[in-house]
Amino acid sequence: MDTNNGVNPTESVPSSAVLSIQSETVTFHREPPPPYDSLDGTVTTQPIVQTIIIQPTLKNEPMYYICHKCEERVLTKVKYESTKKTHMLAGFVFGFTLWCSLCCLAAIPYLMKTFKKAHHYCPNCDSYLGAYSKI
Ligand SMILES: [Zn+2]
Repeated sequence: MDTNNGVNPTESVPSSAVLSIQSETVTFHREPPPPYDSLDGTVTTQPIVQTIIIQPTLKNEPMYYICHKCEERVLTKVKYESTKKTHMLAGFVFGFTLWCSLCCLAAIPYLMKTFKKAHHYCPNCDSYLGAYSKI
């Protein structure tokens, strides 16, 4: 009588997994399921290791990030770009400060990184990692 229910007893059984968060690695083990009884009494189990990388959310400043291309943990290279919202904010400031002759304050959105879109690149392979915009 077949007690395997059609399951191959030599198939691998997951027994452990690895969870990686940035540079921190968390390893947890779980008990393997009971082995299948085979006709000749041999049971083969192979551990399966799974690595899950959780990337931090990109910010407006250079930050440590794992490059998806070269798989290195790098400090990102950031290039800032003025967007439509930057121009709209500068226009708003210009219009608001025109009456008091302080319209030079309209240059503030172009001088501060906060009002620009940050594009993150890998310094090793120059691949694009993502963008962040606060406004
Ligand atoms: Zn890279």
